[in-house]
Amino acid sequence: MLLDYVKKLEYKSDLERLNTLKQILKSKKIKFVEQNYSYFNFKGTNVIVDVGNLNSKKHIILSAHFDVVSGSPGANDDASGIAILIDVIERIKKLKLKNKIRVIFFDDEEIGRFGSISYIRKYGLKDLIAVYHLELCGYGDAFGLWPITKINQDSYSLKTIEAVLREKNIYFEKVGQLPAFWGDDLSFRNAGFRHALCITVALKEEKEAIKKFVKSSVFKLIFDFYTGRVPKMFRLYHSPEDKSEHLSEKTLKMVSEVLVDAVLKLGREA
Ligand SMILES: [Zn+2]
Repeated sequence: MLLDYVKKLEYKSDLERLNTLKQILKSKKIKFVEQNYSYFNFKGTNVIVDVGNLNSKKHIILSAHFDVVSGSPGANDDASGIAILIDVIERIKKLKLKNKIRVIFFDDEEIGRFGSISYIRKYGLKDLIAVYHLELCGYGDAFGLWPITKINQDSYSLKTIEAVLREKNIYFEKVGQLPAFWGDDLSFRNAGFRHALCITVALKEEKEAIKKFVKSSVFKLIFDFYTGRVPKMFRLYHSPEDKSEHLSEKTLKMVSEVLVDAVLKLGREA
């Protein structure tokens, strides 16, 4: 069960989550490297797993972050992404792929994307095909692909995942720039790599409320938050309510399958 990974990670501090993640990978005999970095006064650790065709320089990055906002159990943000990526690694191990798939569990997303910025500084962007970053993929039936702007609207990361979602008959929406939200995919676009986007899953029935909410200014968001005018997704987000009991095994599996199909398709077309 993918939810079991989430349960192992929730309620833990950043360091405990890092150690739990490493334990899970070791128990499954998944090889990883740790990138220890310092960014200003912050020390952090990214965990990197390479699977697929290890002889290929061309690679696709799939990522989530293991750090957590203090006071929140961090089930959907972002233990859900970690659980999905562990499952993706296990599925990919059984397949023959054209490219290398680099799965990265970033540190320090919440305090300013220091993990992904430090990753790019060390490893660069050469031979990178696409980046899919996962944020809040633990329940729901509708994919949100974001932020889709002039920069990435005709990128093959977007084209590929759209094709997979259409084939699988999964509802999705493309969402534009969001003033108050970002994920580690932003570090890649900021560094000049445009084939990067973030995936979030939500309840289709909440889509209009979510769209209205995320397009607000930071000030309006804070006002709405304290006056209780918030969709379920954001009542849980960064709160003590972000627990595994709200998540769905079916959703976690669905996202894992979509990602595996996307990397297979990218191997044929990019
Ligand atoms: Zn997050």
